[in-house]
Amino acid sequence: MSDFLNNRFIKHTRKIHQCDLCLRKIPKGFSAHNIKGVYDGEFFNIYHCNTCNELGKEFYEYVTDGWDGCFDSQALQDSMDDYECSTPLQLLNTLRKQNEDEHKHQYEPLVNSVMKGDYY
Ligand SMILES: [Zn+2]
Repeated sequence: MSDFLNNRFIKHTRKIHQCDLCLRKIPKGFSAHNIKGVYDGEFFNIYHCNTCNELGKEFYEYVTDGWDGCFDSQALQDSMDDYECSTPLQLLNTLRKQNEDEHKHQYEPLVNSVMKGDYY
């Protein structure tokens, strides 16, 4: 369990950082998310690139270790392999697309039958 968590958006980084999730370098002057916290009594101070931050918010289960719920670069890598994506951005877009399709699947039959008047 995380005892304390602080996610700060940095508009322009002053140094090069490494994204803790996709392990890519975040160039100086780019935006990033700085996440500080205490986990199991251990202080951590990590950076996430914008894509990984979005993935973490929207698709938490794809980028975290199912065991302890921690962000895990291996989990991200596995998800990218599963979806045959070579970048985190591709994965984000693929997962968003998949969500949309599922959403359509769930609601389209209902919408169609309402339009056809089956519901009256
Ligand atoms: Zn990243």
